[in-house]
Amino acid sequence: MTTSYVIKGAVLPHGAKSDIAIADGLITQMAPDLNIPGATVVNAANAIVLPGLVDLHTHLREPGKEDAETVLSGSQAGVRGGYVALSAMANTSPVADTAGVVEQVFRLGQIAGLLDVFPIGAVTKGLEGLELAEIGAMADSAARVRVFSDDGHCVFDPLVMRRALEYVKKFDGVIAQHAQEPRLTQGSQMNEGFVSSQLGLKGWPAIAEEAIIARDVLLADHVQARLHICHLTTAGGVEIIRWAKQRGIQVTAEVTPHHLLLTDELARSYDPVYKVNPPLRTESDVMALREALADGTIDIVATDHAPHPAESKECEWQEASFGMLGLETALSIINKTMVETKLMDWSGVAERMSITPARIARYENHGREIAVGAPANLTVMNPTKTYRVDRDLVASRSRNTPFHGMELPGVVLATFFNGKLSFESKQP
Ligand SMILES: [Zn+2]
Repeated sequence: MTTSYVIKGAVLPHGAKSDIAIADGLITQMAPDLNIPGATVVNAANAIVLPGLVDLHTHLREPGKEDAETVLSGSQAGVRGGYVALSAMANTSPVADTAGVVEQVFRLGQIAGLLDVFPIGAVTKGLEGLELAEIGAMADSAARVRVFSDDGHCVFDPLVMRRALEYVKKFDGVIAQHAQEPRLTQGSQMNEGFVSSQLGLKGWPAIAEEAIIARDVLLADHVQARLHICHLTTAGGVEIIRWAKQRGIQVTAEVTPHHLLLTDELARSYDPVYKVNPPLRTESDVMALREALADGTIDIVATDHAPHPAESKECEWQEASFGMLGLETALSIINKTMVETKLMDWSGVAERMSITPARIARYENHGREIAVGAPANLTVMNPTKTYRVDRDLVASRSRNTPFHGMELPGVVLATFFNGKLSFESKQP
């Protein structure tokens, strides 16, 4: 008999109140005022309980860049943020383009044991965009990869993209595209617009994203395959996804917390912590992304957690790496941008941060409604309690959070993974 728990006084996503009993990895009872002798009580008065969060876009950096993050440190950051499953991007060193590398990452996740680490396989060998990677072998491996992405790079060749979409259809896989037309973004440093022209930094135009999204939804339609668009950032991209969904094309899209809050105005500081790919856009893009996430045009929130060591960020803007941390702050940013603004309720958050990402990636033990008999993968958070982000207190090995010093609403109190308490807040 494993440890059993009772979550007391929690509010479910739809607003009902219930205690939740957990034993042997499952939710065993749900009722008001449960009293179970011997069970450990987790006090969740005034807290929301969500199905455990699932991130489809995490850079864990192992193997190869362990100074930035490891599977273990990334898992620790994940559980602090309320996550129970992370999809690890393939742009490691070596690249996760073979069964051997995806199995290595998968096993490292199991050894860390805090949450599920599901490796994403590369679409092309070495992320070079030329030749398909060992997609079938990765799908058949112990890691059972279903999501493939060259993230960091765009699959720019339309014929390679077509072949990849056709290939993954065989096992119900999905291609996650980093939409960036390479010729339109050579040497780009930030969003192309008013601010970039004032600062004299080379621009990354919105159309470089939109052109690839438009091409790929048409390809996905043509071959009847599943396409997922990573980190959507532009109002124009939202319009194309909306059009594609109306036509019944099998496309899903994600947005990051940072693109729902921050704008290119922050580049005026020349602080490379705000340098990210795709770049921070304008206020009107931010508002379009929020509306699209609320109405379901954008299906999910994904963090694009991208740790970098200090030397890659404490330098001139032009030399700095692209990317920001995201796992530990995602839920509170969504609370601030979507729930406190009344654009979305907690059942919407459950859909966008757990249920739908698990469905897109076919993670069967995740994203389940909170009900008796379901696996006990749960996130307990106090939405009204605030905290100040401190980059020196993060669980990640890196410090590149753009939210440092910000007061954010919503503290994760506890994370349950397969019925075990994988994180509990030390704050009262
Ligand atoms: Zn990307």
